[in-house]
Amino acid sequence: MKPEALLHPTPAGLFCPVGEFYIDPVRPVGRALITHGHSDHARAGHRHVLATRQTLDIMRIRYGEDFCESEQAAEFGEVLDVGGVTITFHPAGHVLGSAQIAVEKDGLRIVASGDYKRGTDPTCASFQPVACDVFITEATFGLPVFHHPEPRREIGKLLTSIEQFPERTHLVGAYSLGKAQRVIRLIRDCGWDKPIYIHGALAKLCDYYERQGIALGDLRPATIDKSTPDLFKGAIVVGPPSAFQDRWARRFNEPLIAFASGWMMVRQRAKQGGVELPLVISDHCDWPELLETIKEIAPSEVWVTHGREEALVRWCELQGIAAKPLHLVGYEDEGD
Ligand SMILES: [Zn+2]
Repeated sequence: MKPEALLHPTPAGLFCPVGEFYIDPVRPVGRALITHGHSDHARAGHRHVLATRQTLDIMRIRYGEDFCESEQAAEFGEVLDVGGVTITFHPAGHVLGSAQIAVEKDGLRIVASGDYKRGTDPTCASFQPVACDVFITEATFGLPVFHHPEPRREIGKLLTSIEQFPERTHLVGAYSLGKAQRVIRLIRDCGWDKPIYIHGALAKLCDYYERQGIALGDLRPATIDKSTPDLFKGAIVVGPPSAFQDRWARRFNEPLIAFASGWMMVRQRAKQGGVELPLVISDHCDWPELLETIKEIAPSEVWVTHGREEALVRWCELQGIAAKPLHLVGYEDEGD
């Protein structure tokens, strides 16, 4: 069987005609296999959804009880059959519940890795390399300029800034699923045991992470009114980056805007977003991690989806590995 007969791109997403299912479809479909809960990969409205328990829970939290008609939870490593195709889920190290999906038929195995990273992250299971014929990789940071620093060093910058500006409220922008919880956990691991204030948009997901055994410490709602002007002096407030554009953010005392994202490597992006303290913390692979992963898995073919496909395709070809871009659309990396 040719790999393209087992899995190929369509406008609705990656499609397996043999098993009649899609992986991370961007339109409502009959049967969807979902890698993780970010909104560009996990959408509401599919008839049947197969995903890890945590991804299903996260979809329910975000979209409500009726996010699909029926669901099935996949354990990591559990061997499942979908329409005569063998399916296994494996940790992707991206956010809580995130998985790579291995699709296998007649001795041919394709792994769709979704979004993934290789660095340590105590808030989710670590990426596991899975031997395969075709490895489908993202390329969000697929250019040689992208090297992500040690995340604890970035959190160190935040804590130093609080020491230097003890009057100012430090507002840390972080996407609500995955990045926010990881940043909070990192702040704790760097020794900050005071309360961390969170924007309401993070509350349900932080609660869920706690229930899944990821301790986030003393979290309090970042509700500010006239009676508590001093409460947030020198405090850390974590919220979705969009919240810091509105009036709510300006009520804090001399707010200092930080933003935790892989894109903060690009100075222009930080400047445009009015970010005073860029923190380069990413839930995606940087360039060296992408190369290291492909070398380790040693697939005979690499398909590159969403991101900067061309550089990675060229690198694979120089290594003697067949490679092509899939040009999938609709993946805006909600959790970069
Ligand atoms: Zn993602």
